[in-house]
Amino acid sequence: MHCPFCGMGNTRVIDSRLVGGGNQVRRRRECAACKERFTTSERADLSLPRVIKRDGSRVPFNEEKLRAGLLRALEKRPVSSDRFEAAIGRILHEVISSGEREIGSRQIGEYVMEQLREMDEIAYVRFASVYRSFQDINEFREEIERLQKEPSLALKRQQLSLLPEK
Ligand SMILES: [Zn+2]
Repeated sequence: MHCPFCGMGNTRVIDSRLVGGGNQVRRRRECAACKERFTTSERADLSLPRVIKRDGSRVPFNEEKLRAGLLRALEKRPVSSDRFEAAIGRILHEVISSGEREIGSRQIGEYVMEQLREMDEIAYVRFASVYRSFQDINEFREEIERLQKEPSLALKRQQLSLLPEK
């Protein structure tokens, strides 16, 4: 890293330690040219990205909205709140681990559909029908057929675990 005082590219770390309960690392550096010392700190960037809406506008990520969307799809479906929370957790994890500062609402929708599909196919179809805004009944039927032909991930895992071990 460049020295903030003289701009030379040759600085070395003379001390390095964990702070903030181990969530942050602080390094003391010394410039080889001017001998100035400075500190850098590094932490995982876990902030939620901003959402790029379909019209191109940017809005802050809204977890409440995400929850409301999933709840609406799962209304009266046999899905426990534990599974619901786990799904929310996985979606947030996907969103955060992308490391991007902005994420398309479309991409978030895909993550949501992935999770709904694992949990409950009715909820998945409900969400997809709104989200993908099927143009007509044929498109809707195609999606249902695709769903029936293509086993869900959960089912695939189940099938894999049924394979005889070598
Ligand atoms: Zn320097």
